[in-house]
Parts: sequence; C-alpha cells; structure tokens
Amino acid sequence: MAHSGKSAFEEVNEKVSQAGEILGIKPGVISALKSCEREVTISIPLRRGSDVEVLTGYRVQHSNARGPRKGGIRFHQNVDLDEVRALASLMTWKTALIDVPFGGAKGGVAVDASKLSSIEKEEIVRRWTRSLVHVLGHHRDIPAPDMGTDAKTMAWLMDEFHRLEGFQPACVTGKPVELFGAPGREEATGRGVARIAAATLEEHGVNVKGATVVVQGFGNVGRYAALVCHELGMKVIAVSDLTGGITNPNGIDIAAIFSHPTLETVQSEERINAGELLEIKCDVLIPAALGGVITESNCGKINAGFIIEGANQPLTIAADLELRGQGVVIVPDILANSGGVMGSYFEWTQNIQEFSWPIEKFRSELDARMELAFSIVHRVSKKYSVDLRTAAFIVSVDRVAKAFELRGSLV
Ligand code: NAD
Repeated sequence: MAHSGKSAFEEVNEKVSQAGEILGIKPGVISALKSCEREVTISIPLRRGSDVEVLTGYRVQHSNARGPRKGGIRFHQNVDLDEVRALASLMTWKTALIDVPFGGAKGGVAVDASKLSSIEKEEIVRRWTRSLVHVLGHHRDIPAPDMGTDAKTMAWLMDEFHRLEGFQPACVTGKPVELFGAPGREEATGRGVARIAAATLEEHGVNVKGATVVVQGFGNVGRYAALVCHELGMKVIAVSDLTGGITNPNGIDIAAIFSHPTLETVQSEERINAGELLEIKCDVLIPAALGGVITESNCGKINAGFIIEGANQPLTIAADLELRGQGVVIVPDILANSGGVMGSYFEWTQNIQEFSWPIEKFRSELDARMELAFSIVHRVSKKYSVDLRTAAFIVSVDRVAKAFELRGSLV
C-alpha cells in the first residue's frame, strides 16, 4: 500500500536509518538491516469451476540475526511484495523490541479473503505451504495468522507441513487450542493492545476507568482489544469493520456483541459509516484493521488524545509527525501489537518442550514482558528526547545490529 508517496517498506526503513544515525551504527550495517535476506514469490493456481485462477503468494524473510524468522501470513487483495517486505521488516524490529529469540518474516497471498470459501482457503494455504516448505520449519521460519487468516488456516498449514516433513507442531503458531495451540494466543494481540492503552493513560495521569475508546476493525486484534478495554473499565464508544460501524456514547457492551461474526448483524446500536469512525472524539483511538488508514489527508480530523496502533503501519510517517505536533501521543505498532508474537513465542516454546501452560501463566508472562518493553521504550524516549516510535526503533535496531555483527555475518 502506498503511504503518501513513500512505499510501506520505505517508511519502515526511514525509521531504521534514523535509529541507526542516532546510535552511530556503521552505514553498511544499516544498509544490511534495510534489506531483506530472502524473498520468494510463488504462483498459486486456484480451481474456479472448470478453469483455474492464478494467485500470487509471497514469503519474505527479512532477518535471522536474532533467531528463526517469524511472521504472519496475510490474505488480502492489496498484498504485494513491497507490503510484505515492510511487514517482514517490522517483525524483525518487533521481536527484537520484546526480546524474543526470533528474526522477522512475513507472507501473503493477493486475494480477497472475504470472497473465499473454506475449501478455497484450504487449497490456497496448502499450496502456499508446499511451494515454500524448503524455507519453513520451526528453526527456520515460523508463520502465524494475520489479516484474512486464522487458527483454522494455521491447522491446515501444519497438516500440510507434517505430510511433507513429518511431525513438527512448532512449525507454525496461532493454531487451534485443540491442535497444539496455546490457550491465550488467540487473545494475545488484542489483550496486549488494551493493556498498553491502559498503561499509556496511566503514564499520562488519565483515569483508565471511563476513558473513551474507539476501535477500527473487529477481527482478531480489534475484537479482543475492545473486549479487554471494556473489562479494564474503559468505555468503548464505537467499533467498525468492513460492513460498517456502530456507536454508543454511553459505551457498547462488547461482551454482548463479541461473538457476532461481523458488526452487520448487531442491533440496537447507532450505525455510522466506517470512515466517520476515525473522526469521533475520544481519549483512545485503536486502528486495528489495515495499514495506511491515517494519512496527511485525514489526520487533521482525528479527535483522539492517544493512538494505540493495533494494526501494522496504520499511520503514515507524515501523519505521525503532524499528529504529534498537535499533542497526540502515539504508541507504535511494534510495541502496541507485539503481544501477538509474544504469544506465538510462548506457543512455540511449549510445542518444542511438549508441555503446556495454563492460561493464567500465559497471561501473566505476557503482561509482565509487555510491561517491561513499555518501560524500556519510555526510558529510551526520555534519554534521547524522542517520540515513542523513534525510541522503539532505537531499542530494536541496537539489538539487531549487535547480533548481526556478533554473528560475523560480514565475513
Ligand atoms: P482480521 O482479518 O482478523 O480482522 C481485520 C478486521 O478489519 C476485520 O474486522 C475487517 O472487517 C476489518 N476491516 C477491514 N477493512 C476495514 C476498513 N476499511 N474499515 C474498517 N474495518 C476494516 O485481521 P487481524 O489479525 O485482526 O489483523 C488486523 C491488523 O493487526 C493487521 O494490520 C495485522 O497485520 C495486525 N496484527 C495482527 C496480529 C495477529 O495476531 N492477528 C498481530 C499483530 C498485528
């Protein structure tokens, strides 16, 4: 997706360069960290009646400096190589920021997931896995769900991988709990987003109880972010998805609407169009759907005190700059939505140890590790007098550059 003239990957690399300059990292090392180690493009012939439609799929491995590559698979019509590169790179910075032993990768298929039958989705992910099996594996590259894919998709991926390579449940995370998944993983990203929202309000002396929240997206991330915000005593006053939005100034009972597959079937709340949602006055705005939704052209209409990035790259760098100029506090994606990959790490380690944790342990470990990352980012932000996104990149780029040099990758 284009981000105000710059591509999504260029936008990430702008932050990498900035962090590299602040840290005094050698330009050659920064160039290496701005490149992707491996990019694989595949074609996926999908049966359509008596004919086939050829889809394009990707796996981009950005870095393995700190461990096996890790990152989700997205099924969306806007997926292209640049977007996958950007998301793969963000995974490297995210895993480094929360200090889990992974690198970064991302996959995708350019297809509208909302128009696929379950059988078509299964065919696509099995073909994707067969074509890429040589670069995947629990110590090479571990996929997970992202937009348009879910636990069921990951079960098919694991099954296909097992047929080809034998038993290895840690080859993919975000699996169903009944099939080597970890209780807590499904909610982990949204839970992390909500708890980071609460911690940010507290950091700025704003009462968590009663704080108003608006959430864009009611999929895996948005749904759980809204639910946990609600459970923490915040007032979720609007949510939206592809089918439109609903609002209630007194607070939506998120628990009551949680199990609706889309918001289309929710009754008794006032309906708004999805575009209007971003402009609602609120304490906390959580964009948790697509990238590039807040740009220079609409950021003047944002009416929130805090933006917690549930999605990856929901703000362009230009919008980020302008909003910060207006006093909006922005918590970047690589911190705010890192609960997902933290949860994937817990699932991966449990699979490898053939041991499982109760959900209470999963949640308390997740909360403690995210609190640590939150406090490190704030400390670095103060130390260098920079915003939270720049601080997060300083922490990550420093860790990855050190690992890259220590491994002797330059030899
Ligand atoms: P999902 O497919 O489960 O849900 C996406 C939601 O966004 C759906 O409710 C969809 O209807 C809605 N949506 C799509 N276009 C919209 C629009 N124009 N306006 C309003 N709503 C719209 O995807 P997800 O897994 O929740 O991922 C959402 C974002 O979070 C993505 O940017 C993804 O990269 C990021 N993310 C996901 C995870 C994870 O663990 N799933 C982890 C980290 C980051």
